Amino acid sequence: MKKIVLASSNKGKLREIQAVILDPSIELLYQTDLGVKDAKETGQTFVENAIIKARNACAITGLPSIADDSGLEVDALGGQPGIFSARYSSVSGSEADEANNQKLLSELSDVPISERTARFYCAIAYLRFTADPTPLICLGSWEGSILREPVGENGFGYDPLFYVSTHKCSSAELLPEVKNSISHRALALRRLQKLWPTRR
Ligand code: IMP
Repeated sequence: MKKIVLASSNKGKLREIQAVILDPSIELLYQTDLGVKDAKETGQTFVENAIIKARNACAITGLPSIADDSGLEVDALGGQPGIFSARYSSVSGSEADEANNQKLLSELSDVPISERTARFYCAIAYLRFTADPTPLICLGSWEGSILREPVGENGFGYDPLFYVSTHKCSSAELLPEVKNSISHRALALRRLQKLWPTRR
């Protein structure tokens, strides 16, 4: 079995990546189990940050790595929080998601429903080794809008505020298998799986 390190310590992401990459020829390992700490996200794009994270995990483990950099782009906020989605409020740790959601609601308090359009983006980077000069990069996006209050218990991050018009509910109300069939992350990962045969 081929070992690949998942370069994330975000449990929500790890769950979703594992649920989409169901490949019996691949063993997915957690970077935290291998002593890898989160890399500093110094890039200006999702793509740069995904490469930075995957490269960091390759360098420390000597194994191929997959990283996800993702976030929410809100039109009424000029695209914010974007690459800063995880760090939108100043709160870190287990309280961060709720603080980020509260900040988003307060920034949008005067914005009518029709102008609350938003989307999630996900960049997945796959590096075979630290100095891989041709990383595989796959992107996915998912359109929605921002609710006035959190709804639903599933998912993570901004899911309770992200209204999915195709399913008439928030993404935190979607069953995990439904989210994992339509999300930005699922789309990017499926693209990666199509390219893999050329690069493994
Ligand atoms: P990253 O770890 O820098 O890629 O930050 C990703 C952040 O974007 C997460 O911490 C969430 O706040 C947000 N995010 C990304 N994908 C999702 C998702 O599928 N649902 C909800 N929030 C997400």
